[in-house]
Amino acid sequence: MQIDLQGIGMTSQRSRNRLADTLREMGIQSECILDAIRNTPRHLFVDEALASRAYENTALPIGYNQTISQPYIVARMTEALISGGRLQSILEIGTGCGYQTVILARFGEKVYTLERIDALLSKARERFYTLRYRNIRTRHGDGNEGWPQYAPYDGIIVTAAPTGVPATLLQQLAVNGRLIIPVGKPGEQTLLLITRTDEGYHEQRLDWVSFVPMLEGIG
Ligand code: SAH
Repeated sequence: MQIDLQGIGMTSQRSRNRLADTLREMGIQSECILDAIRNTPRHLFVDEALASRAYENTALPIGYNQTISQPYIVARMTEALISGGRLQSILEIGTGCGYQTVILARFGEKVYTLERIDALLSKARERFYTLRYRNIRTRHGDGNEGWPQYAPYDGIIVTAAPTGVPATLLQQLAVNGRLIIPVGKPGEQTLLLITRTDEGYHEQRLDWVSFVPMLEGIG
């Protein structure tokens, strides 16, 4: 088992480099983010049966009707969130398998991540532990409520799509903080970048996207 995983890890360096090249061609400019993609073993975040497809630029199933996001989207959202700088605190809604979380952990002092499906969260926690990420805190909960205890956050990233921006998340954003969120019904979702200013909130549309819906309550 151990030997198999290492085998995949070693032979995959070339495919990881190729994936980073693809993302650069698609418009990702931050070399730090491309490095993070190159150095993160995405195959450890999917079932072994799908490991050989882990470095394709595509979303893959992770069980419970959920998916690991497409690497381009992970890179695009991270780039929009960090905007060139390191952040003190990041809140992520929708841990899923934890891949986006570990990419974020390279750019934030602390990453707080919430997931409503406990079984997915447990697996993600194991991965954080195995890969020795010590700056990630996890919680089983409903992202619609955010995580008030550590608010305000410099960055909030939502990886499931609500039909509108939850007011609670806007409240938990620091002044000058950035919220990246896909909003809308399946088939017509827009990725929004919302920046909090002294006066209020500034909204920018980034892309058309396709995310699983953000649900109410815990699973
Ligand atoms: N970033 C993840 C994407 C997972 S898909 C990855 O790369 O793997 C979106 C995740 O959001 C799913 O795991 C889903 O269970 C979770 N989710 C949906 N609604 C939620 C809510 N209200 N609160 C917390 N998590 C939610």
